[in-house]
Amino acid sequence: MPIATRAFAAVAADKPLEPYRFDRRDPGPDDVAIEIKYCGVCHSDLHIAKNDLGGTRYPIVPGHEIAGLVTAVGGNVSRFKVGDRVGVGCMVDSCRTCAACQEGEEQYCVPGMTQTYGSADPLGEPVSQAITQGGYSDRITVNQDFVLRIPDSLPLDAAAPLLCAGITTYSPLRHWNVGEGSKVAVVGLGGLGHMAVKLAHAMGAEVTVLSTSDRKKADAERMGAKHFLINSDKAAMQAAAEKFDLIINTVSATHEIAGHLNLLARDGTMVMLGLTTEGMPVFAMPLLWRRRAVAGSLIGGIRETQEMLDFCAEHGIACDIETIAPDQINEAYARMEKSDVRYRFVIDMAKMA
Ligand SMILES: [Zn+2]
Ligand SMILES: [Zn+2]
Repeated sequence: MPIATRAFAAVAADKPLEPYRFDRRDPGPDDVAIEIKYCGVCHSDLHIAKNDLGGTRYPIVPGHEIAGLVTAVGGNVSRFKVGDRVGVGCMVDSCRTCAACQEGEEQYCVPGMTQTYGSADPLGEPVSQAITQGGYSDRITVNQDFVLRIPDSLPLDAAAPLLCAGITTYSPLRHWNVGEGSKVAVVGLGGLGHMAVKLAHAMGAEVTVLSTSDRKKADAERMGAKHFLINSDKAAMQAAAEKFDLIINTVSATHEIAGHLNLLARDGTMVMLGLTTEGMPVFAMPLLWRRRAVAGSLIGGIRETQEMLDFCAEHGIACDIETIAPDQINEAYARMEKSDVRYRFVIDMAKMA
């Protein structure tokens, strides 16, 4: 029996999201059926809903920061049982055989991961035209290998955004070996940035936040930042030259990045996490002069996502959230476009009309 699901969907690029009903598949032998309690609202959701990247197929239910409870499991599932607290992030499947999948980096799957929403769905959910549909909904059925365990000490609402914002920042901090004494700068204090600050601080780094104004200075310090720099303050930027081992750049709009490269120490890296749709100039001189690099990073693999959730539980870290009802999603999008959120909207599915 397909599972009746209530959701909010985008129906066209220029229309508000609206209530949407569809069916999830009944769990197969390897599936976990989940009642979604909370879903975070990521900036990518907005890009896809508004077709900013092209190729969005409507109707689309966004949402890839899912936290909920297991309601049923298939016959081959032994790691999860009914009632378990679980999460689902940006992927619900991958090819499992390519080099990336074999190494547990499913997000870089060569033929392409199956994204939680908007991907062709090989399992063909009955009414959704074989497109995966995401977490702005009260039910989801997911293959057990793409289900994460949410530790008991993490509240489900504040844990939901860890499934994208948390892993997106955790993975590069680990990849570039941030630890005790590392000097890390975080550009932009939004959904991603605030998690980067908390995680880098918990790993032992000395954290500096770079922002366009000092509006969020007190928040940054509360989250663990030791220093706060305003990008337009030329003297302060000059004083911070060659200081950082890693710059986590979370800004999801086109911005001037060349001026940040001089902040990197020798062999330092600036890693781009924000999804921008236009190019930004980078000059060779500041790169070669100190063997600096500009890099990118995309979420993290399933194994690393579980590691991140366990790390957050161990260090008492979760997201700063503002909870909304599903029918407030359009208002939330409008506020996100003005960066008016501290620091992540989370939809409370119990308030689904
Ligand atoms: Zn996301
Ligand atoms: Zn693969």
